[in-house]
Amino acid sequence: MLCARHVFRCFKWLERAGDCITGAAGPYFVGLAVILQAIGAASFFTVIQPSLPLRWLTTPPCVLIALNLFTHYYYVCKVPPGFVQDEVLQPGSGLLWASPSQRTSAGVRWSNRGIVLLTAGTTACRRCGLMRPERAHHCRICGRCVIKYDHHCPGINQCVGLNNERHFVLFMAYLVLSTFFLSMLGYSQALEAVGLTYSNNWPYMVPQLAYVLTYMLSVVICIAVFIMLCWHLWGVSRGETTVEAQDHEVYKRIAKDRGDNFVNSFDLG
Ligand SMILES: [Zn+2]
Ligand SMILES: [Zn+2]
Repeated sequence: MLCARHVFRCFKWLERAGDCITGAAGPYFVGLAVILQAIGAASFFTVIQPSLPLRWLTTPPCVLIALNLFTHYYYVCKVPPGFVQDEVLQPGSGLLWASPSQRTSAGVRWSNRGIVLLTAGTTACRRCGLMRPERAHHCRICGRCVIKYDHHCPGINQCVGLNNERHFVLFMAYLVLSTFFLSMLGYSQALEAVGLTYSNNWPYMVPQLAYVLTYMLSVVICIAVFIMLCWHLWGVSRGETTVEAQDHEVYKRIAKDRGDNFVNSFDLG
Protein backbone atom coordinates (compact mmCIF):
# COMPACT_ATOMS: atom_id res chain seq x y z
CA MET A 1 0.00 0.00 0.00
CA LEU A 2 2.83 2.35 1.02
CA CYS A 3 4.76 1.35 -2.07
CA ALA A 4 1.76 2.08 -4.32
CA ARG A 5 1.46 5.56 -2.74
CA HIS A 6 5.15 6.23 -3.41
CA VAL A 7 4.78 5.12 -7.02
CA PHE A 8 1.73 7.36 -7.40
CA ARG A 9 3.62 10.34 -5.93
CA CYS A 10 6.56 9.61 -8.20
CA PHE A 11 4.28 9.63 -11.27
CA LYS A 12 2.66 12.88 -10.09
CA TRP A 13 6.11 14.45 -9.69
CA LEU A 14 7.13 13.25 -13.16
CA GLU A 15 3.88 14.68 -14.57
CA ARG A 16 4.54 18.09 -12.97
CA ALA A 17 8.16 18.04 -14.14
CA GLY A 18 6.96 17.21 -17.69
CA ASP A 19 4.50 20.13 -17.56
CA CYS A 20 7.24 22.54 -16.39
CA ILE A 21 9.63 21.40 -19.14
CA THR A 22 6.88 21.62 -21.81
CA GLY A 23 5.94 25.14 -20.66
CA ALA A 24 9.56 26.35 -20.55
CA ALA A 25 10.48 24.78 -23.90
CA GLY A 26 7.39 26.19 -25.68
CA PRO A 27 9.01 29.40 -27.06
CA TYR A 28 11.99 27.37 -28.35
CA PHE A 29 9.62 24.94 -30.14
CA VAL A 30 7.88 27.91 -31.81
CA GLY A 31 11.28 29.36 -32.85
CA LEU A 32 12.31 25.97 -34.24
CA ALA A 33 8.99 25.62 -36.12
CA VAL A 34 9.46 29.07 -37.72
CA ILE A 35 13.06 28.23 -38.76
CA LEU A 36 12.01 24.85 -40.22
CA GLN A 37 9.15 26.41 -42.18
CA ALA A 38 11.53 29.08 -43.53
CA ILE A 39 14.13 26.44 -44.54
CA GLY A 40 11.37 24.32 -46.14
CA ALA A 41 10.06 27.27 -48.17
CA ALA A 42 13.61 28.31 -49.20
CA SER A 43 14.38 24.73 -50.28
CA PHE A 44 11.20 24.47 -52.33
CA PHE A 45 11.35 27.86 -54.05
CA THR A 46 15.08 27.81 -54.84
CA VAL A 47 15.64 24.11 -55.64
CA ILE A 48 12.32 22.57 -56.77
CA GLN A 49 10.20 25.42 -58.13
CA PRO A 50 12.66 26.51 -60.91
CA SER A 51 12.45 23.01 -62.43
CA LEU A 52 8.64 22.77 -62.40
CA PRO A 53 6.87 22.53 -65.77
CA LEU A 54 4.48 25.41 -66.74
CA ARG A 55 5.89 27.65 -64.01
CA TRP A 56 3.39 30.44 -64.73
CA LEU A 57 0.62 27.95 -63.87
CA THR A 58 2.21 25.89 -61.06
CA THR A 59 3.88 28.72 -59.09
CA PRO A 60 0.71 30.58 -57.88
CA PRO A 61 -0.79 27.49 -56.09
CA CYS A 62 2.60 26.81 -54.47
CA VAL A 63 2.83 30.43 -53.22
CA LEU A 64 -0.78 30.24 -51.99
CA ILE A 65 -0.10 27.04 -50.00
CA ALA A 66 3.04 28.58 -48.45
CA LEU A 67 1.20 31.82 -47.52
CA ASN A 68 -1.68 29.86 -45.97
CA LEU A 69 0.79 27.73 -44.02
CA PHE A 70 2.57 30.77 -42.53
CA THR A 71 -0.67 32.71 -41.88
CA HIS A 72 -2.44 29.87 -40.07
CA TYR A 73 0.67 29.16 -38.00
CA TYR A 74 0.79 32.85 -37.03
CA TYR A 75 -2.90 32.85 -36.06
CA VAL A 76 -2.83 29.54 -34.19
CA CYS A 77 0.03 30.92 -32.07
CA LYS A 78 -1.42 34.44 -31.61
CA VAL A 79 -5.19 33.92 -31.25
CA PRO A 80 -5.96 33.06 -27.59
CA PRO A 81 -7.68 29.64 -27.35
CA GLY A 82 -10.61 31.10 -25.39
CA PHE A 83 -9.86 31.42 -21.68
CA VAL A 84 -12.87 31.31 -19.36
CA GLN A 85 -12.27 34.83 -17.98
CA ASP A 86 -11.88 36.39 -21.46
CA GLU A 87 -14.66 38.38 -23.08
CA VAL A 88 -16.86 36.15 -25.25
CA LEU A 89 -16.36 36.73 -28.99
CA GLN A 90 -19.65 37.35 -30.75
CA PRO A 91 -20.28 36.46 -34.43
CA GLY A 92 -19.21 39.44 -36.56
CA SER A 93 -16.82 40.84 -33.95
CA GLY A 94 -13.25 41.17 -35.20
CA LEU A 95 -11.69 40.17 -38.49
CA LEU A 96 -11.63 36.45 -37.89
CA TRP A 97 -15.22 35.87 -36.78
CA ALA A 98 -17.86 35.56 -39.48
CA SER A 99 -21.06 37.60 -39.33
CA PRO A 100 -24.24 35.77 -38.33
CA SER A 101 -25.86 33.96 -41.23
CA GLN A 102 -29.00 35.57 -42.64
CA ARG A 103 -30.24 32.27 -44.00
CA THR A 104 -33.02 30.49 -42.20
CA SER A 105 -32.68 26.89 -41.19
CA ALA A 106 -35.78 25.85 -43.15
CA GLY A 107 -35.29 22.49 -44.76
CA VAL A 108 -32.77 21.27 -42.18
CA ARG A 109 -33.79 17.94 -40.75
CA TRP A 110 -32.42 17.26 -37.31
CA SER A 111 -31.90 13.70 -36.19
CA ASN A 112 -34.71 12.29 -34.14
CA ARG A 113 -33.18 9.64 -31.94
CA GLY A 114 -35.16 10.37 -28.82
CA ILE A 115 -32.23 11.91 -26.99
CA VAL A 116 -33.04 13.72 -23.77
CA LEU A 117 -30.68 16.69 -23.61
CA LEU A 118 -29.76 17.91 -20.17
CA THR A 119 -29.21 21.61 -19.52
CA ALA A 120 -25.55 22.59 -19.63
CA GLY A 121 -24.16 23.20 -16.17
CA THR A 122 -21.29 25.29 -14.85
CA THR A 123 -18.75 23.88 -12.46
CA ALA A 124 -16.00 25.43 -10.34
CA CYS A 125 -12.45 24.55 -11.37
CA ARG A 126 -10.63 22.75 -8.56
CA ARG A 127 -7.32 24.31 -9.57
CA CYS A 128 -8.02 27.98 -10.37
CA GLY A 129 -11.42 28.27 -8.63
CA LEU A 130 -13.17 29.94 -11.59
CA MET A 131 -16.72 29.02 -12.60
CA ARG A 132 -16.55 27.48 -16.05
CA PRO A 133 -19.04 26.23 -18.64
CA GLU A 134 -19.41 22.65 -19.80
CA ARG A 135 -16.59 21.42 -22.09
CA ALA A 136 -14.05 23.78 -20.48
CA HIS A 137 -10.95 22.17 -18.96
CA HIS A 138 -8.02 23.42 -16.94
CA CYS A 139 -4.63 23.40 -18.68
CA ARG A 140 -1.90 22.56 -16.17
CA ILE A 141 0.79 24.17 -18.35
CA CYS A 142 -1.03 27.48 -19.01
CA GLY A 143 -2.56 27.43 -15.50
CA ARG A 144 -5.94 28.57 -16.87
CA CYS A 145 -9.29 27.11 -17.88
CA VAL A 146 -9.91 26.93 -21.64
CA ILE A 147 -13.34 26.79 -23.32
CA LYS A 148 -13.77 23.67 -25.50
CA TYR A 149 -10.25 22.61 -24.51
CA ASP A 150 -8.70 20.18 -26.96
CA HIS A 151 -5.08 19.85 -25.86
CA HIS A 152 -1.96 21.89 -25.06
CA CYS A 153 0.35 21.94 -28.07
CA PRO A 154 4.07 22.62 -27.39
CA GLY A 155 4.55 23.40 -31.10
CA ILE A 156 2.40 26.53 -30.78
CA ASN A 157 3.21 27.18 -27.08
CA GLN A 158 -0.46 27.39 -26.10
CA CYS A 159 -3.68 25.43 -25.89
CA VAL A 160 -5.95 24.51 -28.76
CA GLY A 161 -9.45 25.61 -27.83
CA LEU A 162 -12.66 27.14 -29.14
CA ASN A 163 -11.09 30.24 -30.77
CA ASN A 164 -7.99 28.81 -32.46
CA GLU A 165 -9.01 25.25 -33.33
CA ARG A 166 -9.88 26.08 -36.95
CA HIS A 167 -6.42 27.64 -37.47
CA PHE A 168 -4.87 24.53 -35.92
CA VAL A 169 -6.77 22.20 -38.29
CA LEU A 170 -6.05 24.40 -41.33
CA PHE A 171 -2.37 24.70 -40.38
CA MET A 172 -2.12 20.89 -40.24
CA ALA A 173 -3.91 20.60 -43.61
CA TYR A 174 -1.51 23.09 -45.30
CA LEU A 175 1.48 21.45 -43.60
CA VAL A 176 0.45 18.07 -45.05
CA LEU A 177 -0.08 19.65 -48.50
CA SER A 178 3.24 21.51 -48.53
CA THR A 179 5.33 18.58 -47.24
CA PHE A 180 3.53 16.25 -49.67
CA PHE A 181 4.45 18.43 -52.67
CA LEU A 182 8.01 18.90 -51.41
CA SER A 183 8.38 15.10 -51.02
CA MET A 184 6.76 14.27 -54.38
CA LEU A 185 8.39 16.97 -56.53
CA GLY A 186 11.82 17.13 -54.89
CA TYR A 187 12.97 13.49 -54.92
CA SER A 188 15.23 13.83 -58.01
CA GLN A 189 17.07 16.76 -56.38
CA ALA A 190 17.31 14.69 -53.15
CA LEU A 191 18.97 11.85 -55.10
CA GLU A 192 21.30 14.38 -56.70
CA ALA A 193 22.17 15.87 -53.29
CA VAL A 194 23.16 12.48 -51.83
CA GLY A 195 25.23 11.67 -54.94
CA LEU A 196 23.03 8.91 -56.38
CA THR A 197 22.97 10.41 -59.88
CA TYR A 198 25.71 10.63 -62.52
CA SER A 199 25.81 14.41 -62.58
CA ASN A 200 27.72 16.06 -59.77
CA ASN A 201 26.12 19.41 -60.27
CA TRP A 202 24.49 21.37 -57.40
CA PRO A 203 23.95 24.96 -58.56
CA TYR A 204 21.46 25.87 -55.81
CA MET A 205 21.74 28.34 -52.94
CA VAL A 206 20.62 25.79 -50.29
CA PRO A 207 23.51 23.47 -49.21
CA GLN A 208 23.13 19.81 -50.21
CA LEU A 209 23.13 18.54 -46.62
CA ALA A 210 20.44 21.06 -45.59
CA TYR A 211 18.30 20.02 -48.55
CA VAL A 212 18.63 16.28 -47.81
CA LEU A 213 17.74 16.79 -44.12
CA THR A 214 14.79 19.03 -45.06
CA TYR A 215 13.58 16.45 -47.56
CA MET A 216 13.77 13.56 -45.05
CA LEU A 217 12.05 15.61 -42.34
CA SER A 218 9.40 16.62 -44.84
CA VAL A 219 8.53 12.98 -45.64
CA VAL A 220 8.29 12.10 -41.92
CA ILE A 221 6.19 15.20 -41.08
CA CYS A 222 3.87 14.56 -44.03
CA ILE A 223 3.01 11.03 -42.81
CA ALA A 224 2.84 11.92 -39.08
CA VAL A 225 0.76 15.09 -39.49
CA PHE A 226 -1.55 13.37 -42.01
CA ILE A 227 -2.40 10.76 -39.35
CA MET A 228 -2.92 13.54 -36.74
CA LEU A 229 -5.09 15.51 -39.18
CA CYS A 230 -7.29 12.48 -39.92
CA TRP A 231 -7.69 11.82 -36.18
CA HIS A 232 -8.61 15.46 -35.57
CA LEU A 233 -11.06 15.63 -38.49
CA TRP A 234 -12.69 12.43 -37.25
CA GLY A 235 -13.21 14.18 -33.88
CA VAL A 236 -14.56 17.32 -35.61
CA SER A 237 -17.03 15.22 -37.61
CA ARG A 238 -18.32 13.77 -34.33
CA GLY A 239 -18.34 17.16 -32.59
CA GLU A 240 -15.94 16.02 -29.86
CA THR A 241 -12.54 17.28 -28.70
CA THR A 242 -9.50 15.08 -28.00
CA VAL A 243 -10.30 15.10 -24.27
CA GLU A 244 -13.94 14.23 -24.90
CA ALA A 245 -12.98 11.43 -27.31
CA GLN A 246 -10.98 9.80 -24.49
CA ASP A 247 -13.78 10.39 -21.95
CA HIS A 248 -16.41 9.00 -24.31
CA GLU A 249 -14.45 5.75 -24.70
CA VAL A 250 -14.70 5.29 -20.90
CA TYR A 251 -18.42 6.19 -20.88
CA LYS A 252 -19.02 3.70 -23.70
CA ARG A 253 -17.40 0.91 -21.64
CA ILE A 254 -19.44 1.84 -18.54
CA ALA A 255 -22.65 1.96 -20.60
CA LYS A 256 -21.83 -1.42 -22.16
CA ASP A 257 -21.26 -3.01 -18.72
CA ARG A 258 -24.67 -1.71 -17.67
CA GLY A 259 -26.26 -3.08 -20.84
CA ASP A 260 -26.93 0.48 -21.96
CA ASN A 261 -25.94 2.60 -24.98
CA PHE A 262 -23.80 5.72 -24.76
CA VAL A 263 -24.94 8.58 -27.02
CA ASN A 264 -22.54 11.42 -27.83
CA SER A 265 -24.76 14.48 -27.33
CA PHE A 266 -22.24 16.76 -29.12
CA ASP A 267 -22.67 14.83 -32.38
CA LEU A 268 -25.48 16.59 -34.24
CA GLY A 269 -24.92 14.76 -37.53
ZN1 LIG B 1 -9.04 26.21 -14.02
ZN1 LIG C 1 -2.27 25.20 -22.26
